[in-house]
Amino acid sequence: MAVRHYDSLVIGSGPGGEGAAMMLAKNGGKICLVEKYGEIGGGCTHWGTIPSKSLRQAVQQIADYRNDPLLRRVVGPVDIAYPDLLKAADAVIAQQTGMRERFYYRNNVDVVTGHARFVDEHTIEVETARGASERYSADHFVIASGSRPYHPSDVDFEHPRVHDSDSILRLDFSPRSITIYGAGVVGCEYASIFANFGLKVNLVNVRKQLLAFLDDEITDALGYHLRNQGVVIRNDEEYDRVEALDDGVVLHCRSGKRMKSDVLLWANGRTGNSQDMGLEALGLVIDHRGQIGISEHYQTSKPHIYAVGDVVGPPSLASASYDQGRFAATHILHGTAGSMLLSHIPTGIYTKPEISSLGPTEYELTEQRVPYEVGRAMFRSIARAQITGNTVGMVKLLFHTESLAILGIHCFGEQACEIIHIGQAIMSQPGDGNTLKYFAETTFNYPTMAEAYRVAALNGLNRVF
Ligand SMILES: Cc1cc2nc3c(=O)[nH]c(=O)nc-3n(C[C@H](O)[C@H](O)[C@H](O)COP(=O)(O)OP(=O)(O)OC[C@H]3O[C@@H](n4cnc5c(N)ncnc54)[C@H](O)[C@@H]3O)c2cc1C
Repeated sequence: MAVRHYDSLVIGSGPGGEGAAMMLAKNGGKICLVEKYGEIGGGCTHWGTIPSKSLRQAVQQIADYRNDPLLRRVVGPVDIAYPDLLKAADAVIAQQTGMRERFYYRNNVDVVTGHARFVDEHTIEVETARGASERYSADHFVIASGSRPYHPSDVDFEHPRVHDSDSILRLDFSPRSITIYGAGVVGCEYASIFANFGLKVNLVNVRKQLLAFLDDEITDALGYHLRNQGVVIRNDEEYDRVEALDDGVVLHCRSGKRMKSDVLLWANGRTGNSQDMGLEALGLVIDHRGQIGISEHYQTSKPHIYAVGDVVGPPSLASASYDQGRFAATHILHGTAGSMLLSHIPTGIYTKPEISSLGPTEYELTEQRVPYEVGRAMFRSIARAQITGNTVGMVKLLFHTESLAILGIHCFGEQACEIIHIGQAIMSQPGDGNTLKYFAETTFNYPTMAEAYRVAALNGLNRVF
């Protein structure tokens, strides 16, 4: 079998693979990208970030309409079926896929469709959907094969009422109630989407607290607002069994609680896509979650094989995966890479209210005995928020009491995932450039949400002087 040779070969066309392939190609390498799904873009484009955020936007539009007395009076009630809402993502997915195909074409990256499997440490075999296979060799490899929802063996995911975060995007009827098992980021986002769409939602959390990695004030706000939207949150529960029936699904918990709803969304954990790739035979380290062991430079135990993105575990974000891909590519090209890109990755959570945070929480700073103060701006006191009617939310700045350097930013409310980046720009400045004073001494457009930073900075400075 003829073997085509490349400088680098990337497996997977999600953000991790794209970040790596583009950087390697732009630096003159002969690059091949292998993707087993029929279209490029990865889980991010086809069954993760993009479709879930498009669904969220469609649901929000309907909720805004339903809450607008003027529109309701003029146009009447609106009743849209869930499968129709899902179509909102189609146009975005087509745009994203088309745009990425052009990137690869323009940068002379060869895109091969099929399942990649290592046959030796420098050669892979790609098996197409029709069963044909071809071999490719390369000096370096980047594995960016993503992850999939974890399926416990005692839950029947073939049942039409039992879903994971992939199949819920193919649900072909409109449920009136849903139980979501697992209250991580994906579980909370879907709880918010379905509650906003008008479903009865049970959110079953296997932990004591929602999203415990966030600042307490933000977690409290999330719990309050989800409950306010009608979500029933059950903390510290564990399932005993799932009973899937013709007319609904019953989740039996170890505590004795039983919850019946039209559908069940299982959102508890993910598994790395490392299976059936010939990795064990190469001696790569893979844990029980399917995650590949890597060094601080994203190298596996074979230094010419890198792994990035969801397949290496947290933070499991599209944003971080892309940067990890670029980091690995830089390391391949230069034998070294700065860690700047990978430190201080913000968290973006698209619940309603939206949440974003960067840097340590109050709890972490207290534990580390860092002297800090807090500056807050509540959105209800910001003119722009009053005008748009989005008065739920807050920007909270944690800063060093002596140097005034910003240490952490915790934000919730409309556009929180955008608003965080204003503070990030200052927080990432070296030395004296990172100072709370920037926000107190800078003129902001008025009315804007950016003004919240000025209000928070003044609030914080008043506490230290
Ligand atoms: C519901 C949901 C919502 C999310 N929302 C957000 C969000 O709002 N913001 C955010 O930053 N992140 C979000 N994420 C996470 C984000 O989607 C992932 O972190 C990101 O897609 C990981 O990128 P990746 O490149 O590692 O893998 P993926 O995007 O999953 O791509 C991996 C690709 O590799 C291919 N592949 C796998 N094995 C092989 C093989 N052997 N041969 C060839 N190809 C292979 C797969 O077909 C896939 O196309 C969300 C995830 C989910 C599930």
